[in-house]
Amino acid sequence: MSERNLETICVQAGWEPGKGEPRVLPIYQSTTFKYDTSEQMGRLFDLEDAGYFYTRLANPTNDYVAKKICELEGGVAAMLTSSGQAANYYAVFNICECGDHVIMSSSIYGGTFNLVTCTMKKMGIECTVIDPDCTEEELNAAFRDNTKCVLAESISNPNLIILDFEKFAKAAHAHNVPLIVDNTFPTPINCRPIEFGADIVTHSTTKYMDGHALTVGGCIVDSGNFEWSKYPDKFPGLTTPDDSYHGLTYTEKFGKLAYITKATSQLMRDLGSIQAPQNAFLLNVGLETLHLRMPKHCENALSVAKFLKSQERVAWVRYPGLEDDPYHDLAKKYMPNGTCGVICFGIKGGRAASEKVMDALKMIAIVTHVADARTCVLHPASHTHRQMTDEQLEAAGISPDLIRLSVGIENADDIIADLKQALAE
Ligand SMILES: *Cc1c(COP(=O)(O)O)cnc(C)c1O
Repeated sequence: MSERNLETICVQAGWEPGKGEPRVLPIYQSTTFKYDTSEQMGRLFDLEDAGYFYTRLANPTNDYVAKKICELEGGVAAMLTSSGQAANYYAVFNICECGDHVIMSSSIYGGTFNLVTCTMKKMGIECTVIDPDCTEEELNAAFRDNTKCVLAESISNPNLIILDFEKFAKAAHAHNVPLIVDNTFPTPINCRPIEFGADIVTHSTTKYMDGHALTVGGCIVDSGNFEWSKYPDKFPGLTTPDDSYHGLTYTEKFGKLAYITKATSQLMRDLGSIQAPQNAFLLNVGLETLHLRMPKHCENALSVAKFLKSQERVAWVRYPGLEDDPYHDLAKKYMPNGTCGVICFGIKGGRAASEKVMDALKMIAIVTHVADARTCVLHPASHTHRQMTDEQLEAAGISPDLIRLSVGIENADDIIADLKQALAE
């Protein structure tokens, strides 16, 4: 079935009912699952049999939706998490522990930056933050003996830097560690990171995948390509016995499914960031139109970006779809059908001028969100990235005047009309 086109996968994959079963994905609204014998249930706890027993670890509704995202990304296994934050946390923590080190792109979502550089640091995991436009030599120099992964975004939120997949995958693999790519912004409709060397793909499904600002959620997809067992000393969590499962070794028992099985049966069991099945159901409805919405977001964003560029009061515009954008060539290489609906721009006069234009918008709302059907704006320096120092903001490529405009799927003329009146204020 892996030969199906993306549009068909969006609509049909995941829940594929048999005779007499519901046409639509059922919500398994149950915390628990029944067995006939104590022995049957015991085998589940030993991971000897596959099956559901408690929704803190896994739930069928979630798994059908994860299966759809897995097929969209071209992976071998996937899991849903309660949020994108949980997805990135689990993706890294599944292979890192106290005393380990990760390399992370400086152009990354503010929440991920805090997670890795503050919270995971308290857990004893060190991080080297690297400019995504660094040279190969600089990137290679960042690796240490205890480095366990490289983390970056395919299109960075908010500053829209397109990842040089080739450079990052090559460096990660030369140092025997996986490349983890957060693919939230382009979604698999516009970019499939596994095709370009990513080993693990993460998502905040809260954004385009849900698409309607209904539910917070996340997803982790494993390509199955990284050979953990080749580097047993580097990834002991996967390649040596897990005491919490009577000495089972994930790579031996589960092969290509080792990484996701460990994340589910160990991290989800112990940390419990499961997505509610109700939310997974809503996410699945969103996914059914992802292939229709993404091109519309991109088409509208390009029109709006061109309009902004023509405006006297606008100091600068960044949109990788614009031909003179510094990341246009990388965008063409890795996402030829389009990037995403997000634009960044600044107003002449700096921070205060940008905030004034935002306040004058009527239809376009100021919300802490991005990548849903309704056009919205946010000022990263005073909102999502508020905890960063000016130096950190600069390193992350976020200027104080930067307005993040998430272009929705309304009529582009109406979005432009609202911007026009706000700029005329
Ligand atoms: C929003 C976002 C996250 C965090 O996801 P939540 O669902 O809000 O927890 C992670 N990465 C990127 C690129 C995001 O845009």
